[in-house]
Amino acid sequence: MGEPLIKVQILPFEETPQRDLTGLIEELASLGIEATLLPKASVVPPSYNPQRKQHNAEIFLDRVRLAPGHCILGVTNRDLYVEGLNYVFGLADSPGKAAVISLHRLHAGADDMLFRARAVKEAVHELGHTRGLRHCADSRCVMAFSNSLADIDRKGKEFCVRCTHKFRGH
Ligand SMILES: [Zn+2]
Ligand SMILES: [Zn+2]
Repeated sequence: MGEPLIKVQILPFEETPQRDLTGLIEELASLGIEATLLPKASVVPPSYNPQRKQHNAEIFLDRVRLAPGHCILGVTNRDLYVEGLNYVFGLADSPGKAAVISLHRLHAGADDMLFRARAVKEAVHELGHTRGLRHCADSRCVMAFSNSLADIDRKGKEFCVRCTHKFRGH
């Protein structure tokens, strides 16, 4: 593999296990995405919504935007939501420099290999959004919309040909 497709900085939130981060970095590398780890961050103001027992994804994304760099992926173990949705696997500025993914729901029914596959799909999906990519009608493409774990498991880790062109053309 030649030039990395992109370089991304990972901003881990404080409760994210180191081994999950290491796994994600390895998975991204296998797709040509070079990821480096920033020091751990915390979220201020409080992101926790006691009624929902979940964390507001927008507050995490705000924190990611503060990190210096051109392409930052926040990674948290917290269960994230946005208003109007039960939960989100991730959220991104599209286009923009900031994205965040939650690993919280990705462990369900998964061995280590499946968990890693889910995490990298969500990471690549949100990175696609940061480059302005929209959801893709190709159900195998990583930019296919995923509303459930079954949707994530159905799609691949990589962009389809059309999304690859758009991603590289940025
Ligand atoms: Zn999406
Ligand atoms: Zn596509």
